[in-house]
Amino acid sequence: MSEQAQARAAVVWKKGGPFQLEDVTVEAPRADEVLVRMVATGMCHTDMIVRDQFYPLPLPIVLGHEGAGVVERVGDRVTKVAPGDHVVMAFTFCGKCDLCQSGHPAYCREFYARNMGGGRMDGSTAIQKEGKPLHDHFFGQSSFSTFAIATERNIVKVRKDVPLELLGPLGCGISTGAGAVLNSLGVKAGRSFAAFGSGAVGLSAIMAARLAGATTIIAVDTKPNRLQMAQELGATHAVNGQTEDAVEFIKRVTGGRGVDYTLESTGNPKVLRQAIDSLDILGTCGVVGAPPVGTEASFDVNDLMIPGRSVRGIVEGDSVPDIFIPQLIDLYAQGRFPFDKLVRFYPMEQINQAAKDSEKGDTLKPIIRMTRPT
Ligand SMILES: [Zn+2]
Ligand SMILES: [Zn+2]
Repeated sequence: MSEQAQARAAVVWKKGGPFQLEDVTVEAPRADEVLVRMVATGMCHTDMIVRDQFYPLPLPIVLGHEGAGVVERVGDRVTKVAPGDHVVMAFTFCGKCDLCQSGHPAYCREFYARNMGGGRMDGSTAIQKEGKPLHDHFFGQSSFSTFAIATERNIVKVRKDVPLELLGPLGCGISTGAGAVLNSLGVKAGRSFAAFGSGAVGLSAIMAARLAGATTIIAVDTKPNRLQMAQELGATHAVNGQTEDAVEFIKRVTGGRGVDYTLESTGNPKVLRQAIDSLDILGTCGVVGAPPVGTEASFDVNDLMIPGRSVRGIVEGDSVPDIFIPQLIDLYAQGRFPFDKLVRFYPMEQINQAAKDSEKGDTLKPIIRMTRPT
């Protein structure tokens, strides 16, 4: 059980990147760990903002947190999965604190340390380049690599009759949008919803709002291609926030009232204000867009207080990955959650192109196919 795996990983050596492919070694799994042969890993906004050090994680580091692969080897104490199982990797959590135990592992008291600490909780790492440790365990996986180490807790066993290479983004971006609507906001049939930002997260929220039975679903974005996709996926209305006042549009569509729920996924404080101003009385705005640490936003306190509006932050769709990810896969298999429409595949060698296309908004959800060293 002691042999290492030879792998190829995308390493960020300095602030701003690029992702550089390197031959590395990955340690054998410890007793509670699982070694996964990666098939494909989605790329999410958080990979880019850590590469750019909006969140100051230690460098050099292997990122990637939407992994899908096949279990290669398991530690002695692992019972949840066995070699050959198909798995999706999600965020990790302690499993012991009050928040984990009450069904909210995305709000684990050790969330930051475990997902963004740059290594295991004891400070060690599993990936080395020529004997020198690289930071890893990003979201408990660092899956921009042909092999990745996770723990039993943050891998989800999935059915084998759906394409595994598609499933990684269910570990973060897609669950974030869908979970915000289904778990956190609790959108109900017959109600109204607006997504501010129609990237992968916003579009997943729109698909979920349709699943929940919302009858007015409004997409707000500045890119015509995204607005068109939003309408294909279930938006009943679409507004270009660059050429039209989104708040006025939403009021007009809802007979002057505003919508019951909004979701802000752009990370822009001005858009957040619009998402609050577009709410009906007793409406709720969910916030999932992450601006740089220290960003402040403003709104008229009376516009929050008098109509009884709420604003709440949402992490990872407040999901329990073992429960939520298989549900989304079943919905996908039934044709009711077609998140594959958001996806574009890239070979590992084009990981920087994938990042560029995603940042420009040309690609909604890049997935990197992992290629083994030759
Ligand atoms: Zn916890
Ligand atoms: Zn993510």
